[in-house]
Amino acid sequence: MSIAPEPRSITIIGGGASGVLLAAHLLRDQSRDVHVTLIERRGEVGQGLAYSATSRDHRVNVPARGMSAFADEPDHFWRWLQARDYPSPQGSWVFVPRRLYGVYLEDVLQTAGQARPGRLVVRSDEAIAVRQGVDGIETVLGDGTSIPSNRVVLAVGHETQAARSRGIAVRVGSEQDTPLPTDAEVMILGSGLSMVDAWISLAEADHRGPIMVVSRNGLLPKGHRDVQPLVIDPSEVPLGASLTKITRWARNLVRKTEAEGGDWRSVVDGLRPYNQRIWQSWPEHTRRQFLRHLRPWWNILRHRLPPELHNRLSDAIARGQVRLVAAEFLGVASAGTGAQATIRRRGTSGRETVDIARVYDCGGVSVNVETSSNAVVRDLVGRGIARPDALHIGLDVSPDCQLVDRDGSPSVDLLAVGPLTRGQFFEIEAIPDIRIQCAKVAERLLSL
Ligand SMILES: Cc1cc2nc3c(=O)[nH]c(=O)nc-3n(C[C@H](O)[C@H](O)[C@H](O)COP(=O)(O)OP(=O)(O)OC[C@H]3O[C@@H](n4cnc5c(N)ncnc54)[C@H](O)[C@@H]3O)c2cc1C
Repeated sequence: MSIAPEPRSITIIGGGASGVLLAAHLLRDQSRDVHVTLIERRGEVGQGLAYSATSRDHRVNVPARGMSAFADEPDHFWRWLQARDYPSPQGSWVFVPRRLYGVYLEDVLQTAGQARPGRLVVRSDEAIAVRQGVDGIETVLGDGTSIPSNRVVLAVGHETQAARSRGIAVRVGSEQDTPLPTDAEVMILGSGLSMVDAWISLAEADHRGPIMVVSRNGLLPKGHRDVQPLVIDPSEVPLGASLTKITRWARNLVRKTEAEGGDWRSVVDGLRPYNQRIWQSWPEHTRRQFLRHLRPWWNILRHRLPPELHNRLSDAIARGQVRLVAAEFLGVASAGTGAQATIRRRGTSGRETVDIARVYDCGGVSVNVETSSNAVVRDLVGRGIARPDALHIGLDVSPDCQLVDRDGSPSVDLLAVGPLTRGQFFEIEAIPDIRIQCAKVAERLLSL
């Protein structure tokens, strides 16, 4: 038996960055009555996948000046750091440990709750299903109880299972990642930011053996530089243009900027306010083409490394400890105490086998909601209350973040925020974009 929900009661499933940012935005305006229940299964809020990193060198990849919880208070995080005497010779252009950012988010939530006594409840449990009740919508928890509310927002973030099963490839820090001789040769699959995390973890474990980094394109993330985003007039942005046209336009912009003494990063950062609109202006086949052909290049330009880490990685490559190989990974089999990996180098047709002590999988996490390991996502998709987006990279949501059901109808009372909404927004992985999304969703929920 459940109790009728209070007016404007909102349940948020997931207390990572997205869930915390949404709760903070909901509670911010003292004049609007709201009850927020935040459900987090990890036991700690604010951390999620990104900000639970334990190493000091697992750093944010956006400078502090871009990481405020509130877009309309851009120096909020920087002031928080200053209040804690965080050392930063370059002011707010600093890349802090991700774990510290998790502490900030936890503090943001706590402060928001303290300012609104009785309006925030944090439940430490797993949401396993969402049901339509007589008086509203009920979120069923792992302990068998349920929480009634007027609206439920999924902020469940990233999948925890790998994108592809790779035989005996292991995740760094997982149970299978047992100690290795420090001079053993290892292979890392993937060359993006997760690879950099893995490489840092190996370095911290005093690993001195060779590291072969294998990815199809052999592309490494670029490094940051302290530049101002280019101011781009909205009328200049070729919305709806083909990939060829928009790439040519962006390249010309880079050429012009560099000819005037500027930096390509200014163009990439200047485009950011338009990225969601560009994505939304494309028909499905252009989005597909982008994902297939341009995304790897876009990712290395857009998701950059803090300069100090970029320099360290470049140095490890120059010394030959890290070897970048553009190749397709074909599989891995155990061989004695180690493994034998098979790859096919780009531009060749022959297979090559490599004896290796261990293969680490940094090839990304699954985005297929139909095979989700998350009980509540499986429940919603299984019952047709939610469905995958057309590109199968997340959940189908309306531009207002409402879940779209099997028949294509947007839900009145079920919404989603964060990376799961990438099919609709694409550029919705990082804090500067998630905080804007959360502010908009909060505003909509509060005006019910
Ligand atoms: C390794 C990494 C580094 C990143 N670094 C940066 C950065 O430096 N700067 C930046 O701007 N962005 C960064 N990002 C991007 C961004 O900040 C992340 O995408 C962020 O993790 C999104 O938060 P989230 O809450 O949506 O998802 P998650 O971090 O995945 O959190 C989801 C939370 O929901 C909980 N949950 C899930 N299902 C349930 C359930 N059924 N019941 C209860 N709880 C549930 C999980 O336990 C988890 O705590 C990074 C991302 C990653 C993966």
